Amino acid sequence: MFGSLKPQPEDKILALMSAFRDDPRGDKIDLGVGVYRDAQGRTPVMRAVKSAERQLVENQTTKSYTGLTGDPAFADALGHLVLGNAPFSHAATPGGTGAVHQALQLVRMAKPDATLWLSEPTWPNHTAIAAHLGIRTRTYRYYDTDTGGVWFSAMAEDLERAAPGDAVMLHGCCHNPTGADLALPQWREIAEILDQRRALPIVDLAYLGFAEGLDADAAGLHILAEAVPELLVAVSCSKNFGLYRDRVGLLLALSDAPAVQGSLAALNRLTYSFPPDHGARVVQMILDDPEMRADWQAELDDMRTGMQTTRHALADALRERSGSDRFGFLAGHHGMFSLLPATSEQIARLREDHGIYVVGDGRMNVAGLRPAEVPVLADAIVAVGI
Ligand code: PMP
Repeated sequence: MFGSLKPQPEDKILALMSAFRDDPRGDKIDLGVGVYRDAQGRTPVMRAVKSAERQLVENQTTKSYTGLTGDPAFADALGHLVLGNAPFSHAATPGGTGAVHQALQLVRMAKPDATLWLSEPTWPNHTAIAAHLGIRTRTYRYYDTDTGGVWFSAMAEDLERAAPGDAVMLHGCCHNPTGADLALPQWREIAEILDQRRALPIVDLAYLGFAEGLDADAAGLHILAEAVPELLVAVSCSKNFGLYRDRVGLLLALSDAPAVQGSLAALNRLTYSFPPDHGARVVQMILDDPEMRADWQAELDDMRTGMQTTRHALADALRERSGSDRFGFLAGHHGMFSLLPATSEQIARLREDHGIYVVGDGRMNVAGLRPAEVPVLADAIVAVGI
């Protein structure tokens, strides 16, 4: 029976990870995988997470099932952090990927012929999950490779073509892979277009707190939430709580339709029954305890400012070496990723000649760079002629 299975396309980021592992060079640099690293190159368990886990181990009295959409206290705490006081339906999910998956399943359930609009480029799993679920996709232009910023006029023009009932995926902040985010007036304009077109926004929020801070990073989403009647938000706690492997995610739905909560519960039941609880409970405990919450926020702020410092240092080093401001966009980008304007040959030379691992499309994880490696990378970028 399984003889009919076709070989799956290799995941290029996972392939890059194993090539990095197999590279014997001691001074190799991994800018591929999307994981935050501190100045020592570690991906630490955050202090507040450790405290909450200690308390949880001490005090938890059962591991019996939670509800189908997870512990309501988790949805309450994280939902309010993300959406403020707007009332929402919710489903806890395994990671942000689970939330994206359930969001697309809900769209398909409500409107089987909906088209999903994705930014060009976007996180490849958006495209892959939609294809797996049989959802038709179209792309909207997003990134201006000449300026390193959002190509807003093209984005707006493309989204004007969305049909009523289409869904439009937006990155809440720290666009993956480009690092280029919408400014608030642009969020307003997009909100107006989607409202007029009666298209459903789906906001993928995987990096809240990684761009400019918790409040600023949710500001675009809040503009959208006030402007449109219905909205989905796929939240991940992988990066901002460092809970990657514990798989903590939440799908939030703003809608007056009475059947939304029941549909989310049914979709969880059909997909994996109960969502994982351990990490979700850790997040809820942190958010509901003023001391742990303040400590989490302080550590998150340090992570964010560390990434910004690296961005500025790299932009400065490249300005010095290239004698131009061509790489100035790196300092203005948000989050872990930026897209290098490089050919695949230049990316291969970075890897082969310099031991620097960047994804094939030029996506570079700035958080993978230690301070001492900034001049090494800048030298290499100039040496390969990017
Ligand atoms: N969306 C985007 C844009 C991402 O970059 C990620 C993390 N790579 C996710 C969603 C989901 O991550 P996770 O499932 O690990 O929470």
